[in-house]
Amino acid sequence: MSTKALSITRIDNTHLVRCGHANWVLVEEGSDLTLIDGGYPANGGDVERSIEQIGHSIGDVRAVLVTHAHIDHIGGIADILTRHDLPVLMDPLEVPHARREYLQQLGPVKVPLLLWRRGAPKWLFDVIGAGALKGAKLPQAQAFAEGSALDVPGRIVPIPTHGHTDGHSAYLIPGAGVVASGDALVTGHATSRQTGPQFLVCPFNHHRAATDEALDAIAATPAGTIFPGHGPAYEGTMTAAVEQARAGRTRMRP
Ligand SMILES: [Zn+2]
Repeated sequence: MSTKALSITRIDNTHLVRCGHANWVLVEEGSDLTLIDGGYPANGGDVERSIEQIGHSIGDVRAVLVTHAHIDHIGGIADILTRHDLPVLMDPLEVPHARREYLQQLGPVKVPLLLWRRGAPKWLFDVIGAGALKGAKLPQAQAFAEGSALDVPGRIVPIPTHGHTDGHSAYLIPGAGVVASGDALVTGHATSRQTGPQFLVCPFNHHRAATDEALDAIAATPAGTIFPGHGPAYEGTMTAAVEQARAGRTRMRP
């Protein structure tokens, strides 16, 4: 089990937890919690530690939301579900992916596409240590009800951002003005030299054009903070974040 350091950033009722190469988000409403994403397979225990660090216990979690079903976002959830029975909700289009009826993830065959990047060999070593090659699936995955605020702690609102995967969803936490952006928009990654709002490097995105278009939905969201799937919190307007990401893409090597 991983016992890496946790870095926690709080805005009102919403906490960004950073641990190794993974991020997740905790949203409080009274004594209840919603967990958004859960890191790599080795991070299940880290998620539980982060819940304790903000003064709660795993028994306070009423719902788990998933941005998308990549191993670095659902691995820890799959681990927690071996010990605790929790509802796991996501965009309807992401459910079959989470159940591993198919896989839209960078596989070992494409990893060499990344290895020229500074930082990539160490990243690969680290994430294999975190269980990246173990695989994970969520047979319990359920679709959330589409339309408006979800009936979960924090009254969280899904933001469809299909592209990174077919059913990727970001989430607005209205009380905090925070967007949990998953991998639709990140602010850093071990394989990137850029800082600030950016796309993940291309091999990670299943559908590149759709990943770009999806940012229109984030730009239109009333929020002042992004808690991304990778990298630190961003504070500023959503339109500025999206503009910066799109400008960075034009500078990026293919
Ligand atoms: Zn990710």
